[in-house]
Amino acid sequence: MGVLNNKCALITGGASGIGRATAELFAKEGAAVVIADINAELGNQVEREILQTGGRAVFIACDVTRAEDCQHAVQSAVEKFGRLDILFNNAGIVRRADVIGTTEEEWDRVMDVNVKSIFLMGKYAVPVMAKQGSGAIVNSGSGWGIKGGRNAVSYCAAKGAVVNMTRAMAIDHGHLNIRVNCVCPGDTDTPMLQNEAVQVGQPYDQFMAEAAERPLNRYAQPMEIAQSVLYLSSDAASYVTGAILAVDGGGTA
Ligand code: NAP
Repeated sequence: MGVLNNKCALITGGASGIGRATAELFAKEGAAVVIADINAELGNQVEREILQTGGRAVFIACDVTRAEDCQHAVQSAVEKFGRLDILFNNAGIVRRADVIGTTEEEWDRVMDVNVKSIFLMGKYAVPVMAKQGSGAIVNSGSGWGIKGGRNAVSYCAAKGAVVNMTRAMAIDHGHLNIRVNCVCPGDTDTPMLQNEAVQVGQPYDQFMAEAAERPLNRYAQPMEIAQSVLYLSSDAASYVTGAILAVDGGGTA
């Protein structure tokens, strides 16, 4: 028996990195998983792997910046699995530049993928959860949503917004028995971080060595973040809402 038996979870950005680890963990814990991602090749691969291990999963092509895609993802969850209990707003992108080096298009894209997506997914998911009488939403923040970081002005702005949006949503929807929390990962070994190393022009080994400079002296593996998302999504966190949980090896301590 898994802790998410009979639940249905929608995970944006579920084809890679932290989202993928969470999809695998949730499926292992008994949830039916909807993988909503822009990357069809990897998304289909995650679906196949979960099905092969006896889990329940479906991949839905979804650009989280598009309202119709978000609506379709929520509808698909309900049509395929009959309900929607958990929404992990995980899809995100990073651009490593200051205000001078960031183009207006990059600013808009970073805000859209990281922030507008949570607004859009919430718009369609909250009514379903309200009708069911319960729900759990976990938003993906970052250590850089709690403190500032160098050469990442759009990302820091976006993740700061995610943190306070989480609090606002928790206040708005608590009376519907919908909990809204935020996980703030520290540096985690995923394709996003590899891409960041390229953006800042550092060899990956050097970039990752710097990422490990924190009290626990190492960076995270995706499954370590997934475990905290599992906690916030499960009934073990039944009285937790509006919380901002840093899972960062003490990086923001
Ligand atoms: P990742 O490995 O790059 O995975 C993100 C997934 O989201 C990818 O499959 C990506 O597709 C997809 N995606 C991008 N834009 C999308 C869109 N518009 N619509 C739907 N899907 C989209 O990233 P990750 O490291 O696991 O990051 C997951 C979350 O954790 C993000 O919100 C990130 O900001 C946050 N986070 C990560 C770290 C870290 O160190 N990794 C630290 C703090 C916070 P493509 O691959 O095709 O782009």
